[in-house]
Amino acid sequence: MDFAQTKSLFHLPEGVIYLDGNSLGPLPKAAAARVAQTVTEEWGEMLITGWNKAQWMAQPARLGDRIGRLIGAPEGTVVLGDTLSIKVYQALASALEMRPGRKVILSDSGNFPTDLYMAEELIRSLDKGHELRVVAPEDVAASITDEIAVTMLTEVDYRTGRLHDMAGLTSKVHAAGALALWDLAHSAGALPVDVTGAGADFAVGCTYKYLNSGPGGPAFIYVAPDHADVVRPALSGWLGHEAPFAFDLDYRPGRGIERMRVGTPPVLQMAALEAAMDVWDRADIREVRARSIELTELFVALVEESCPELVLASPRDPARRGSQITFRHPEGYAVMQALIARGVIGDFRAPDNMRFGFTPLYIDEDDVRDGVRILADVMQNQLWDRPDYRTRARVT
Ligand SMILES: *Cc1c(COP(=O)(O)O)cnc(C)c1O
Repeated sequence: MDFAQTKSLFHLPEGVIYLDGNSLGPLPKAAAARVAQTVTEEWGEMLITGWNKAQWMAQPARLGDRIGRLIGAPEGTVVLGDTLSIKVYQALASALEMRPGRKVILSDSGNFPTDLYMAEELIRSLDKGHELRVVAPEDVAASITDEIAVTMLTEVDYRTGRLHDMAGLTSKVHAAGALALWDLAHSAGALPVDVTGAGADFAVGCTYKYLNSGPGGPAFIYVAPDHADVVRPALSGWLGHEAPFAFDLDYRPGRGIERMRVGTPPVLQMAALEAAMDVWDRADIREVRARSIELTELFVALVEESCPELVLASPRDPARRGSQITFRHPEGYAVMQALIARGVIGDFRAPDNMRFGFTPLYIDEDDVRDGVRILADVMQNQLWDRPDYRTRARVT
């Protein structure tokens, strides 16, 4: 793969080293024109006929197939729509219904809170005595018992980048008679994923992180082919109906993965995702992963050499982490603000984690070296020690 070429396909503001593509991917240059075209030529000229003429209605499945290639999902098993929180809820509700005799959802304390919140509220509304059991990430394997209905795990920890063994845990889950729901928010586009090989029952993820669909881009959901025609979708919206335009008064789930659709898809946002997937279609995710490991290894080595007061929070073994590196510092928030003020953009996650995402499609070795030089200057000269850098913004 020619990474200099892929880098030229993204808009990166002058003077910025962008190490936050794990949180919000940058703008693929072609996305601006693609969205403008959808607005003026499709919405503007076609008006409502765009649903057929521009095939807006087929986009969630078409884009799902293109994402499927990155996560090892066969055609017709992935669909786009809604936000990740919603897709977690749907998958979890379907899984619980498939294991009516079991009452425990197993998750871990490294999961992103929204996944846990959605589970808590689902349990409350079902009112059937379910329990959300949250254990430490390293205790997940030992906690898979025959009480568990479904495991709800995020493969890559959003704080530290720690990677769960998806295939190993899934086979343990199945041996216990349970189902496995995987959240791929920090995996899709970060490393090779094989939902088929691992035997995942459900998988969900977002497109605005490593996949670069832009703020608010839709989420995706995968349902294993064996389950797709069996599961009852929670959130039974009209576009998941077998015949939405029959306008029947009763709900009948659509065929396969289509039943996981809820309502009207975000057409403008999907246009941006289309342009982002044009870049991904040329990428070999294994090469992206190999390059990501080179970049993160270089970053860790340079930071440990020049900033001894920063503590590595990510696994040291690159095979055991995703595509981000986290360092801890008690003044991590202020340090990150000082970095951002100098054009090095990462982010901060409470209580003391500074996160840096490495995204080989548009980040290279020079970016890593320049970023660490600026970080070393901030640390060695205590440039972070200013009251304005300590004032927390609404989004960190
Ligand atoms: C980013 C992320 C989310 C975000 O959910 P939205 O509904 O898209 O805001 C959810 N879960 C995980 C694990 C995430 O990393």
